[in-house]
Amino acid sequence: MSRKKRKKKKNLFLYLDILLIIVIAVGLFIIVKNHNKSESNSNDSSNIDNNIIEETPPPDPNKEKYEKLNNINKKLDFFKDDYLDRYIEYKDKHPELDDETIVVYVNIGLDKDFYTDVKDSPNKYTNTVLANKIYYLGDDYVPKDLTTINNSYSSGNKQMTKDAALAFEEMARDAKKSGYTVRAVSTYRSYSYQTNLYNNYAKQDGTAKADTYSARAGYSEHQTGLAVDVDNAKVSYTKFGTTKEFGWMKDNAYKYGFILRYTKETEFITGYMNEPWHYRYVGKDIAKYIYEHPMTYEEYYVRFLENK
Ligand SMILES: [Zn+2]
Repeated sequence: MSRKKRKKKKNLFLYLDILLIIVIAVGLFIIVKNHNKSESNSNDSSNIDNNIIEETPPPDPNKEKYEKLNNINKKLDFFKDDYLDRYIEYKDKHPELDDETIVVYVNIGLDKDFYTDVKDSPNKYTNTVLANKIYYLGDDYVPKDLTTINNSYSSGNKQMTKDAALAFEEMARDAKKSGYTVRAVSTYRSYSYQTNLYNNYAKQDGTAKADTYSARAGYSEHQTGLAVDVDNAKVSYTKFGTTKEFGWMKDNAYKYGFILRYTKETEFITGYMNEPWHYRYVGKDIAKYIYEHPMTYEEYYVRFLENK
C-alpha cells in the first residue's frame, strides 16, 4: 500500500469517528429532552389528581328533598326535577302513599284542582291522545278520519275515528256471535255539541255536580272520536253495569283495543264517577297491558307515553 493511499484511509476513519460522535451526541440530546418532557407531564397529571381528591363537590341544595323521596328519581325515567317541590308537598299531604305513586299522581296533575292548571294535550290526532280535566283538546279539534259505524252495531249514525270504528264493529260482531248485544249510543261529539250538553247539565244540576259526569267542552274524551258509550239495546246505557253484556265487555273489550275508562275506585284520578258504559279505544297493545296491569289511562300515560 502506498503512503498516499494509507493517508487517505486514515482521514476516512477520522471522518467516521466525528460522524459517530455527532450521532451519539444528538441521540443523547433527544433522550434527555424526552425524559424531561415525560417527567413534567407526569407532574401535571399528578397535580390534576390531587386537585380532584382535594376539591370537595359543592353541596346539592336539593339533596335533602331527594332523600325525602328516598331518591326515587334514580329509579324512575318519568321523574321530573321541575316538580320536586310539588312531589314533596304532595307527600306531606299524603304520607300513606309510596314515593312512586306520589310521582305518578303529581305528574298527572292530581296535586291541583281539576281545570285549574290545564295543558294543551300532546299526541293529538293519534290513538293515544289524552283528554281529561287537565289535558285540553281545544275548540278546533276534529278527528281527521271520522267513520260511521255500521248501523247494525249502533243506535244510528255514530262516528268514531277509522281505527276505533273498525275495532268497535269487530268487537260488537264477536259479542253478537256469543249472544251479547253491544251497541254504540254515543261516540264522537263535537266541541259545540259538548258545549250545549255540558251547559244544559250545569243548568240542571249545578256546575259541581255536572262536572262529575259531564266534561266541559274541549276536555271531553268523546271529542277525540276514540270514546264510545254503549248499551245492550234493552235498558238505558246508564244501567249497562247491571247487564250480562257488561260482564262480557270486562273480559273481552281489551282484545279489540278498548279499555273501561271510569270506575268508582278511580274517580279521584279521572274526575268522573263510575261509568260502566264508557269505553276508550287505545289500540290492542296498550289495552292488553292495562288489562293485565289494572290502572287508569292517566297513570299509563304519564308512565309510558308522556315523555316519549
Ligand atoms: Zn261517555
